[in-house]
Amino acid sequence: MTPATTFAGQKLALFGLGGSGLATVRSLLAGGADVLAWDDNAGSRDRAREQGITVTDLNDADWSGFSALVLAPGVPLTHPEPHWTVGLAQQAGIPIIGDIEIFCRERAALAPEAPFVAITGTNGKSTTTALTAHLLRHAGRDVQMGGNIGTAVLSLAPPAENRVHVVELSSFQIDLTPSLDPSVGILLNLTPDHLDRHGTMENYAAIKERLVAGSDLAVIGVDDAYCAAIAGRRRGERIRLHVEGHGDAAGDYVCRAGAVRGPDGAVIAEISGIQSLLGEHNLQNAAAAVAAALRLGLTGAEIAAGLKSFPGLAHRMEPLRRIGPTLFVNDSKATNADSTEKALLAFRDIHWIVGGKAKEGGIEPLAPLFDRVAHAYLIGASSDAFAATLDGRLPFTRCDTLEAATAAAAQAARASATDAPVVLLSPACASYDQFPNFEVRGDRFRALVAALPEA
Ligand code: ADP
Repeated sequence: MTPATTFAGQKLALFGLGGSGLATVRSLLAGGADVLAWDDNAGSRDRAREQGITVTDLNDADWSGFSALVLAPGVPLTHPEPHWTVGLAQQAGIPIIGDIEIFCRERAALAPEAPFVAITGTNGKSTTTALTAHLLRHAGRDVQMGGNIGTAVLSLAPPAENRVHVVELSSFQIDLTPSLDPSVGILLNLTPDHLDRHGTMENYAAIKERLVAGSDLAVIGVDDAYCAAIAGRRRGERIRLHVEGHGDAAGDYVCRAGAVRGPDGAVIAEISGIQSLLGEHNLQNAAAAVAAALRLGLTGAEIAAGLKSFPGLAHRMEPLRRIGPTLFVNDSKATNADSTEKALLAFRDIHWIVGGKAKEGGIEPLAPLFDRVAHAYLIGASSDAFAATLDGRLPFTRCDTLEAATAAAAQAARASATDAPVVLLSPACASYDQFPNFEVRGDRFRALVAALPEA
């Protein structure tokens, strides 16, 4: 845990007692601050009390005595409308901050030169964060990884000169971190997302831009217009990442033919053949991680060895098993057509398990990729709608359950005469119609695949 020593002796209001909120209370108390913590949700308050945390109604508090409001990132700061605590903090004239801000102040006080890699973007954050941490760890560095992925940042060990913090940040977290100043800031890409919480695309992009604006080295994917403009405005050190065939901005690192190349075309890192980094989208993620690793002093050989041993993240095009020539892939995290597009682009001869609680537009946007699919196996509440989309364009079977779909797809792949069939769970749908979340859906698929007979 990182005790928040920079707030010692101060009194703070804290709202939002989820995982990161509880970790923040503990960190502030350990650092010697006085914290009045609250949540609108009675269940969250009970859980906090069970963990020995005193809960105080901030409606009745004297706000003039607080030096800051610490807000959980899930709580609206601006849109659709500011949370009531935000109004009270503004009336009291105090700053509104999040746990990452507390971490940044602690780093500035304890070890301002401590390496700190901060990663954001609409897509690929978790993969890039996990890969960056893996490369550094594999090379023997002391690495702490967390933030929007896994562990809350203040539950990690404190910043220290020879310790690297690799932290994934959502736009909500950046919005609550005015002093964000990573040694390497990575912005992968920007597409419309969370606009209910940020109002406009411009506002969303402006928040994301702050992460690279405050960094010593900015690593920016330039394959969309928003990020290309941000890279253009950057005055300090920057590395622009470009995946050939995506956008037309110039790159300092260019991903071509499965490799990351420098401006002179020389290969910096070979990505093709790495099973945990399949697909073109992962070239952008890998290029960003490689840029950070080089900046932090890793050698080309260390990076190559780390890339080869990267286990990948569960549920994101996760290779599970081979049975004969058939590869089974778990892409349960693909909850919309955009994500599934990445998976369909990565394979051919696909036995595609698809469906669930459909998003707007369904799978119609994937029609240009239907020729990569040998057969579709429909599951879940979207079956009627997806059957209508596929009718006459692609052979499909209505299976209803993941169990039936996995059995049918495995059998058909085994019987197929092709060299390298792929059984792919990439639902392009939320899971809530049949599962509590995408993790449970993917875990179920993994168990079903593990239980299949060898031949
Ligand atoms: P995040 O943490 O930003 O949600 P993940 O690394 O968990 O991102 O990847 C989630 C999904 O987003 C992947 O399954 C893939 O479909 C898609 N994706 C990953 N990286 C990229 C990228 N660089 N560009 C576009 N899409 C991506």
